[in-house]
Amino acid sequence: MEDTYDVVVVGGGPGGEVAADRVVRSGLTAVVVEAETVGGECSYRACVPSKALLRPGAARAAARSVDGARQAVAAALDPARVLARRDRFTGRGDDTGQADWLDGAGIALVRGHGRLAGERRVEVSRADGTVRTLRARRAVVVSTGTEPVLPPVEGLDGIGVWTSRQATTADAVPERLVVIGGGVVACEMATAWRSLGSSVTLLVRDQALLTGWEPCAGEEVTRGLGDLGVTIRFGVSAVRVARDADTRTVIVDTDDGTALVCDEVLAAVGRRPRTGDLGLETVGLPAGDWLPVDDTCRVTAVGGDWLYAVGDVNHRAPLTHMAKYQARACAAAIAERAAGRPARTGGLQPWSAEAERVAVPQAVFTRPEVASVGLTERAAREAGLAVRAVEYRIDDVAGAALHADDYRGLAKLVVDETRGVVVGCTLTGPMATELIHTATVAIVGEVPLERLWHAVPAFPTVSEVWLRLLEAYGL
Ligand SMILES: Cc1cc2nc3c(=O)[nH]c(=O)nc-3n(C[C@H](O)[C@H](O)[C@H](O)COP(=O)(O)OP(=O)(O)OC[C@H]3O[C@@H](n4cnc5c(N)ncnc54)[C@H](O)[C@@H]3O)c2cc1C
Repeated sequence: MEDTYDVVVVGGGPGGEVAADRVVRSGLTAVVVEAETVGGECSYRACVPSKALLRPGAARAAARSVDGARQAVAAALDPARVLARRDRFTGRGDDTGQADWLDGAGIALVRGHGRLAGERRVEVSRADGTVRTLRARRAVVVSTGTEPVLPPVEGLDGIGVWTSRQATTADAVPERLVVIGGGVVACEMATAWRSLGSSVTLLVRDQALLTGWEPCAGEEVTRGLGDLGVTIRFGVSAVRVARDADTRTVIVDTDDGTALVCDEVLAAVGRRPRTGDLGLETVGLPAGDWLPVDDTCRVTAVGGDWLYAVGDVNHRAPLTHMAKYQARACAAAIAERAAGRPARTGGLQPWSAEAERVAVPQAVFTRPEVASVGLTERAAREAGLAVRAVEYRIDDVAGAALHADDYRGLAKLVVDETRGVVVGCTLTGPMATELIHTATVAIVGEVPLERLWHAVPAFPTVSEVWLRLLEAYGL
């Protein structure tokens, strides 16, 4: 059986859903092929459950940081209720609601594993053993996301190691958890499970957390995790793990000659594209690779203007909001080209995801929160920009002290001196994840600092840090 649609989307995560929705809104037909759950990794095994696990600890800490409220929240978190609340967000993997949403939006859904079968064709292997062929009149959009990689640790695949999936969906709190990694997932999950009562040890190969961010981000999270009671061992790697068949405990041998005893091991060391079994070789591409794209998300290595890739799989910005941004641009480009227009890029057209070259906002829900957008000072200098960085302690803003008795936070602004505009911002502290959007607007809007000066933050809000940063810059 062969069915034809204008657009065939392989992978129904945030990128795929939005791409399909936007092409249908433009008057084209679309089908989504999904192998597991409509909504993707994000809804059930990544962003949503991780933030659901983190929020109760953050809410408790926020109350405890205000005298008078502190005394009202003396008890620890209730793990059973926290896990139950998380399950209310994820439906324990039941994607009926999101499948219904596709239906309501006029998008067809074919469940099964999709593989490219030459130009504009996708074969879907279904659970009942049948294969259905889909033909795309206009485009195939690949949005298959990523999967975790395991570090080269002897015995890791034999102990039932946790990846991000188990770390976000587990039904019980491990008494002792060892986390391998020092990136966002490692830091957030260490925070979440420690808040729920686990004894957590972080094994970090590098000498800092959140490498690639401004150093202050990793330093503040290191301090925050320490305050929570997480043990962090920098410059240490696991070399061997084994689970005792009787006690179910795991022994983790490290390269500094020590051994740790724990109940679960979480490996959070990176991800690879889910393109290993995608039929890429049928269109002349190597299996298992990322899919580099242009600003309209068209796969650059394939001619003929029909293959697009959005979301994590194109390796541009592995975040849900950027997957959706790319999907909006990709769908607009497909619609433009279907109408015989060229969809040229440049000048922030709706069919171009080029703003992510300058502004990818990222939010980390550790305690303290950290958030960033644009370039770090180091990356800006490496890019050849003449920049000046200014820092301001957010705790010195009146609104911050009113917000929390022990407010601690830092703001760093990176200014392109040549153009007089902000090119990067990093914030740490309570509500950093909410405050960062101001910086995104300033960067994408290329707002001159002299004009930004006239955007007056309300008193007494934490946003007054913007006034202080501009004063620190010299305005
Ligand atoms: C623990 C964790 C926490 C995170 N938290 C955040 C956060 O707070 N904010 C944020 O912005 N990002 C977060 N991320 C990143 C975010 O999850 C991803 O950026 C986002 O899910 C990418 O969306 P996507 O559509 O590209 O892929 P996915 O969400 O991975 O969806 C891909 C879909 O494709 C399907 N699929 C794969 N191969 C095939 C095939 N051959 N045939 C059919 N279907 C297929 C999969 O089943 C899946 O449903 C987090 C990631 C992790 C691991």
